[in-house]
Amino acid sequence: MDDLLESVSESTRVCPDCGQTEHADTCPITVALRGESDADRAWFENHPMATEYFRELSSREEYLLRRLLDLPADAVPHGRVHVTQIEPGLRIRDWRAIGWYLPISASGGDRSC
Ligand SMILES: [Zn+2]
Repeated sequence: MDDLLESVSESTRVCPDCGQTEHADTCPITVALRGESDADRAWFENHPMATEYFRELSSREEYLLRRLLDLPADAVPHGRVHVTQIEPGLRIRDWRAIGWYLPISASGGDRSC
């Protein structure tokens, strides 16, 4: 039991991509977060009166969420990302509205995550 708890705890602390407890600069997760930050900054620069917007989940974010949530390979995302600008240069992204569905398998039955 203790071994199981240790292995679960360890797996949540160490990034499966870069193998560190804090993501390396070259980690795909770091790259995903940085890339979307640049895109969101550009959007707000082009819409100076806006304080929030919704957009599609990017492929980089999808990769990130799949890694963080350990989703089945056939899980399909739906929903939109809510981006709020607190002040110029400071934004938050909310992925809580992103859901995932699983295609019904050939053997039937409901699956969800
Ligand atoms: Zn990492």
